[in-house]
Amino acid sequence: MKFLVTAGPTREPIDPVRYISNRSSGKMGYAIAEAAVETGHEVILISGPVNLARPAAAKFVSVSSSDEMFEAVQQYADESDVCVLCAAVADYRPAKVSPLKIKKHAEKFSVELIRTRDILDSLGHRQDRDFLLVGFAAETNDVEENAARKLREKNCDIIVANDVSGTNSAMESDANEVTILFQNGEREIISRAPKQIIARELVKIFAIFARKMFDKKTVMITERN
Ligand code: C5P
Repeated sequence: MKFLVTAGPTREPIDPVRYISNRSSGKMGYAIAEAAVETGHEVILISGPVNLARPAAAKFVSVSSSDEMFEAVQQYADESDVCVLCAAVADYRPAKVSPLKIKKHAEKFSVELIRTRDILDSLGHRQDRDFLLVGFAAETNDVEENAARKLREKNCDIIVANDVSGTNSAMESDANEVTILFQNGEREIISRAPKQIIARELVKIFAIFARKMFDKKTVMITERN
């Protein structure tokens, strides 16, 4: 199968030397890309700026801002069987980007932020979607409730929820613990383990789910003919 995986943070520029970003390390997304390659899948990894080695056998697309990630995902989604949007895409970006470095003043300084385009939402609400769509939810509170809402609202097939609060936070860490939520209300928990182990389990689950989805479509098309 063909996997598209997004990973890492995005950087939303304020001026040529400053940006808004988040703590995402890209480790979970890179581990998923690696695990998919190991299993024999074809992989496109669309990555924000991180300090990780690229999985050698994956096609690699490097992006920086949420807009660049949006465009890259739209370009490659249709040729994929499974899209795993694991990147911590910024939800807001500066309304204006100064072409020159902003000078400091004695007074307060504010930056107006506007919403970025939601990539997961845009794919989830496509009429002609032919791929399995997986989103991630990084939450500090009411993890499952928020993840279930995302699954519904963004109309994806699977949401992988991780808790990013406290000392066991999923962010930046080498380990994770996830709850996988499906559209039919089922859920599966993978207990705390290194991200490589979690990634292998996730890739297995995604591939089984995608296979079932494609088989069901084939039956429907055959019945129609
Ligand atoms: O709504 P929230 O940002 O918490 O949803 C998280 C999920 O949405 C993740 O899968 C993330 O990759 C995706 N996302 C996105 N585009 C955005 C923001 C989030 O694809 N602008």
